[in-house]
Amino acid sequence: MSTYPHLLSPLNLGFTSLPNRVIMGSMHVGLEEVKDGFQRMAAFYAERARGGVGLIVTGGIAPNDRGRPMPGGARLTTEAEADKHRIVTEAVHAAGGKIAMQILHFGRYAYHQDLVAPSALQAPINPMKPKALSSDEVYQTVDDFVRCAQLALSAGYDGVEIMGSEGYLLNEFIAARTNQRDDEWGGSYQNRIRFPLEIVRRTREAVGPHFIIIFRLSMLDLVEGGSTLDEVVELAQALEQAGASILNTGIGWHEARIPTIATKVPRAAWAWVTRQLKGKVGIPLVATNRINTPEVAEQLLADGYCDLISMARPFLADPEFVLKAAQGRADEINTCIGCNQACLDHTFGGKVTSCLVNPRACHETLLNITPAAKPERIAVVGAGPAGLAFATTAAQRGLEVTLFDAAPEIGGQFNIAKQVPGKEEFYETLRYFGKQIERTGVTLKLGTRVSAADLIGAGYKQVVLATGVSPRTPPIEGIDHPKVLGYLDVLRDKKPVGQRVALIGAGGIGFDTAEFLLHSGVSPSLSPVKFFAEWGVDTTYGERGGLKPAHLEASDRKLWLLQRKTSKVGDGLGKTTGWIHRTSLKNRQVEMLAGVNYRKIDDAGLHITVGERELTLPVDNVVICAGQEPQRALQAELLAAGVAVHLIGGADVAEELDAKRAIKQGTELAMAWGATADLDAKSASSPATVSASSNTKDSNSGYETLAVSLDGPVATIRLNRPDKANAMNLTMWHELRQAFKWVDATPSVRVAILEGEGRAFTAGIDLQMMMSLGDTIQDDCEARTRENLRQVILDLQDTLTSLERCRKPVLAAIHGACIGGGIDLVCCADMRYASSDASFCIKEIDIGMTADVGTLQRLPKLIGEGMARELAYTARSFGALEAQQMRLLNRVFDSREALAAGVREIASTIAAKSPLSIRGIKEMITYARDHSVADGLNYVATWNAAMLMSNDLQEAMMANMGKRKPVFKD
Ligand code: FAD
Repeated sequence: MSTYPHLLSPLNLGFTSLPNRVIMGSMHVGLEEVKDGFQRMAAFYAERARGGVGLIVTGGIAPNDRGRPMPGGARLTTEAEADKHRIVTEAVHAAGGKIAMQILHFGRYAYHQDLVAPSALQAPINPMKPKALSSDEVYQTVDDFVRCAQLALSAGYDGVEIMGSEGYLLNEFIAARTNQRDDEWGGSYQNRIRFPLEIVRRTREAVGPHFIIIFRLSMLDLVEGGSTLDEVVELAQALEQAGASILNTGIGWHEARIPTIATKVPRAAWAWVTRQLKGKVGIPLVATNRINTPEVAEQLLADGYCDLISMARPFLADPEFVLKAAQGRADEINTCIGCNQACLDHTFGGKVTSCLVNPRACHETLLNITPAAKPERIAVVGAGPAGLAFATTAAQRGLEVTLFDAAPEIGGQFNIAKQVPGKEEFYETLRYFGKQIERTGVTLKLGTRVSAADLIGAGYKQVVLATGVSPRTPPIEGIDHPKVLGYLDVLRDKKPVGQRVALIGAGGIGFDTAEFLLHSGVSPSLSPVKFFAEWGVDTTYGERGGLKPAHLEASDRKLWLLQRKTSKVGDGLGKTTGWIHRTSLKNRQVEMLAGVNYRKIDDAGLHITVGERELTLPVDNVVICAGQEPQRALQAELLAAGVAVHLIGGADVAEELDAKRAIKQGTELAMAWGATADLDAKSASSPATVSASSNTKDSNSGYETLAVSLDGPVATIRLNRPDKANAMNLTMWHELRQAFKWVDATPSVRVAILEGEGRAFTAGIDLQMMMSLGDTIQDDCEARTRENLRQVILDLQDTLTSLERCRKPVLAAIHGACIGGGIDLVCCADMRYASSDASFCIKEIDIGMTADVGTLQRLPKLIGEGMARELAYTARSFGALEAQQMRLLNRVFDSREALAAGVREIASTIAAKSPLSIRGIKEMITYARDHSVADGLNYVATWNAAMLMSNDLQEAMMANMGKRKPVFKD
């Protein structure tokens, strides 16, 4: 008998049956609106259907324009639109699955100008006020829902889910809080529920009896003025009468200030709500929210809480959830940890959804594990999330992987994170990776701190450094006072901590350390009773909305959470979870201070200045949570020995709380291993998969002379022939053009930095290349030889022009010597910055030639004709400061490190702006340089006539109104 007999038993709906009790819940994944989105959704859903899920529910599709989440949001209003869905329904049916389409009208949560609601009452989470629907418009909206369901039927869906919960339009009609109408759609409860009932009744009439209609019913509103339990039961019964086939559970409105699905919420915490309706209706009931393992799901069904289980995010984490459970392989399930970092945070940030623990989610057509072309032996140092993801994926491809970690267990920082109350789910990720190591045949060497010499001695030619980070120590007077602790002392080593504590650094780790210090006993995320008391949920459902006053367990500790930045404390936390962390600490009276200057630490405590105020916090301990540095101790020695080194995770970029990037980078590097990076391909994978610092001829990078990497939206193109002072040989000319073509064609790249490896930026054109040109251009015919040479020169020019052709800004970061062809190159960048050691020279005159790849044409426009002539006629060297005075450079930095940091900061600022507008600016300035003012004005008028009315403009305005940062599509 199966371990999950209830979960895996079929469900007969009369006209159709489901093979098991598992529904994949609705998620807007962001593919609904992208190019090729339907193909990608087809692959995404079909993979889940193959994985055995009983019924899939799609992300919400609007029944009309006003119901869309944002301008351009997905809607289904015509046969032509329905046609596009067929690829999805056919793919799911071919995989043996069933799929229902969710119909969702955003109501007053919509992010566009034409939002509507039952009454003109603004939502607390939306800066825009809705217009109240007229009575006729309500009838029209009912018609729109019905038409949408009919179109879903014709597109091949097995049913629809009508979204009636979470505070969207239908829910807004139901609750007196948002419905102040006095017509037939408002006033009494019977009037307020008329709208959803009409929609279901008319939909059933239109689609006939053999089509699934799920109604997502808000069973617990968690807002003041929400429904009572009696009202919910009344509506549920009326919905059954109106023709609903299944009732799904909705918990909490989006504006509710109680977490309902975050990782802090205990597993299956809300199933008691669904149970309230058992026996009150005859149709199946679905329990939802924070159900993430087959054991929990089975127990709920066995205990009679519900008839079906809906899980959404768990199917991002593992498409084979059901199959693995059915085959007795539940310990192989990649469990959803409820973090929201790559799913909901992406959705609300306008990005395509994915999953922290499974970066393939929603990228099924782009990321695939294929057998490696040739066997290779790879050492991976560090068994944190990055190393684990790389090692297990590479081993699955058939590569010979040895994974070393100094610690006695796998997991790296996840072993620290899992001890924070509310992060217990991280244990599951480590269980999953542990199992994957066994299955894929990775050789695991724990308790083994390896040195570069060990790896070189063992003959490794390829090393992946996933060595993570080391905590940063800020330079504060008294930092070595005995009362100062690091977060590792507290979380990992459990050193004693006093009653009054100041935490320096209010990023994710600062917040987590505060949580850790304030809790005692069982964590609320493991105890529903504690959780509900803390967040004020009335599980007797005695009050409207299920609310009651919150009750916190008192902590004896007094905490101060401090940050140097002047922005709101906790501003940088997750988009959809930050408010939970902030509320949790605020409720526990943690004092949060921004704009803090740390003066000193001594016996009296921590001395700080905040604005004009000088304070001494009388603390027993100061805990440092002030960021982290990449741990790359082995890199230089390995590179010097000719070993190819690949940096991933924290060892590459040490931003705190970013396991999402660590796992993604590890997975992508392993998937791309051995493949020649096709940078011309428009969907090129992240070049973070390319060796960031290898100075060997690395077949994985696809480049011989460049190191190309991607950090978020910022690409770095590094000239990488340090042993030849980055002299530009033919390969480099060719690869530069390729790289900038890739920057141009890859939507996620918004800015590029051009820099050099080693002591010089570049010594210019490789003279050996010049000498060897003779052979390549030679022809019996003198004229043909000349013409060949002309072509070569034009081709070299074209490489440099490719920086201008590239629509993204290019920032040159110059250090050391920049000679000859180097000046031609940097003149093509949008901006130039240098460290104070930089020196320049237009060398061509000294080798008896006229510079021919751009300096003479571009430099006079930058620094004026007279100075350009002087430098070109004399070939005299000039330093960074003179270059800045003559306006060749925008800025000079004190050191190479300051240059790198400064240019990255400028690049990040640009990357946060509207990509469309940035492209316009680049095009206009380059055009204006080469044309008259009148021509330029004419061009920009035409440009804006075509490009001004963009989503970017709308988003920038809305962000401004909503006092938030804008989020632009790549
Ligand atoms: P690490 O996890 O740091 O692993 C590096 C490993 O390398 C270590 O195990 C170390 O022992 C090993 N190593 C180093 N040098 C050697 C050597 N010479 N030989 C052998 N082994 C070596 N991220 C999120 O995304 N979400 C969260 O909610 C979150 N919460 C966090 C909470 C806390 C308290 C902490 C500390 C971190 C949290 N993080 C979170 C961050 C996340 O854990 C890191 O981003 C992630 O672990 C980085 O993975 P990594 O593989 O790059 O490095």
